[in-house]
Amino acid sequence: MMSMNDNFLPFALPCIGEEEINEVVDTLRSGWLTTGPKTKRFEEDFAKFIGIPYALAVNSCTAGLHLALEAIGIKPGDKVVTTPYTFTATAEVIRYLGAEPLFVDIEPDTFNINTHKLAATLERVEGIKAILLVHFGGQACDMDNILALAKAHSLKIVEDAAHALPTYYKGQKIGLFADITAYSFYVTKTLATGEGGMIVTANPDYAERIRILRLHGISRDVFDRAYSELPKWYYEVVAPGFKYNMTDITAALGIHQLQKVNTFLQRRTEIAEQYTQGLADLPLRTPYLHPDSSHAWHLYVIQLQLEDLIIDRNTFIERMSDAGIGTSVHFIPLHLQKYWRERYGFKPDDFPVALEVYQRAVSLPIYPSMSDADVTRVIRITRQILKNTQK
Ligand SMILES: *Cc1c(COP(=O)(O)O)cnc(C)c1O
Repeated sequence: MMSMNDNFLPFALPCIGEEEINEVVDTLRSGWLTTGPKTKRFEEDFAKFIGIPYALAVNSCTAGLHLALEAIGIKPGDKVVTTPYTFTATAEVIRYLGAEPLFVDIEPDTFNINTHKLAATLERVEGIKAILLVHFGGQACDMDNILALAKAHSLKIVEDAAHALPTYYKGQKIGLFADITAYSFYVTKTLATGEGGMIVTANPDYAERIRILRLHGISRDVFDRAYSELPKWYYEVVAPGFKYNMTDITAALGIHQLQKVNTFLQRRTEIAEQYTQGLADLPLRTPYLHPDSSHAWHLYVIQLQLEDLIIDRNTFIERMSDAGIGTSVHFIPLHLQKYWRERYGFKPDDFPVALEVYQRAVSLPIYPSMSDADVTRVIRITRQILKNTQK
């Protein structure tokens, strides 16, 4: 993501200010480098932001999803329904527990899991224990219908909210609907700490299980309460847990990033609106806006109308890059990836909508530190390339 020259606009950049830098320096001077008071403060701030009782900091969203599936009781051989149109982390955590992902194709407009196909799968297949949702790009899934399906089939819902900070479904924040929700603070995400994640839940038992499992399965609280006469150095290992805790250096960044999350959203929304207006008459589809959801604008994905162009998607991406604009593709569907394809014997058109959407998709840069001139340049160059290559 480093710029190749001064004129190159990277696809993504974190937006780190003096507040974050000073807080990290303060953390370094404090001597408390790993999980400590700043992690606790970040968790409290985050829980308050979502409006939920429990927020648990971890070192990635992947770790968070792993712990979430463990906490709801996913066991070897269980099936978990999810989307193929996501990053591999969403599905790999299912395999961590020896369970099997069951992919359901997406909607052609939102790129979120198709509720009708989900309903049909739930009718047809035995052994499904949970639904793992992804709110693609920052738009919410069809929550009303998915919650009704989960209730009818006694399924748990876990959300991969890596793109959905913040996203509102019918006015309510994502994080408040599912049994457990995990967010990502990876460098490209809407709140960036480099690496990091947060788990939220309203369920005290899940919160307790995750708290213990994220740090080696060590339980201090439970023991303290029962045997308060035991020495301070004593602890008890109650499970083979994981090393998934967040450091205070990360939390120092997170505390200030969280305070800016709404300002960041405002800027990304402005950029999205400028793109949608500036690209309206070209052979491409701009993002569809679902009336039930807000958009967090983690991604701005255009769909090239390849049948109207004399170039393919990759040539478009190369020409953008030659003109100094970084782009990306979200996502290469999981059923096309070697591991998933070979393990489950997938063919490309097993998920035809995911395949079609993927072949046309290009993600344009969208982040708060982009200037108006940057946005205008992306529009101008996209227009130039597509006008010159239109059939
Ligand atoms: C970024 C991302 C993840 C992984 O997040 P990490 O914090 O890097 O573990 C998971 N799912 C989706 C959809 C993502 O985009």
